[in-house]
Amino acid sequence: MGCGCGEPKSNMTKYVCVKCGKEEMREARPGEEVKSCCGEKMVKKEEFIEKMDKQLKEWGAQIDLLKVKAGKGSAEIKIAIDKEVVALNKMMKEAQKKLQEISGKSGEAWKSLSQGINKAGADLKEAMRQAAEKFK
Ligand SMILES: [Zn+2]
Repeated sequence: MGCGCGEPKSNMTKYVCVKCGKEEMREARPGEEVKSCCGEKMVKKEEFIEKMDKQLKEWGAQIDLLKVKAGKGSAEIKIAIDKEVVALNKMMKEAQKKLQEISGKSGEAWKSLSQGINKAGADLKEAMRQAAEKFK
């Protein structure tokens, strides 16, 4: 019923431009892509964080799979995989740290953090792919 102060009922949501980090209140339209000031896709902050968090968890599971593989391999393979796992875990930690930092940020801070996360994600994905190739 509203508060009677004349405010229109809105479903405005805080979006952020993935490119420049500018925040904007927009009406949320399910299923419709919101274009940002830079002509890029605009994301809801919570969604971006949620998505990255999910992705990191998936990678964490993949790292665990590598560890299982290491347990089955020869001593030589075990050492090689262990080395890989340590490096991957380090990258994961970095990405998780960035993700925690980003939640309270906007503007320039958001921009550099989101770029950092995307880069960390891409690096991690590639490292993961290489590790999987090596230890097939
Ligand atoms: Zn922008």
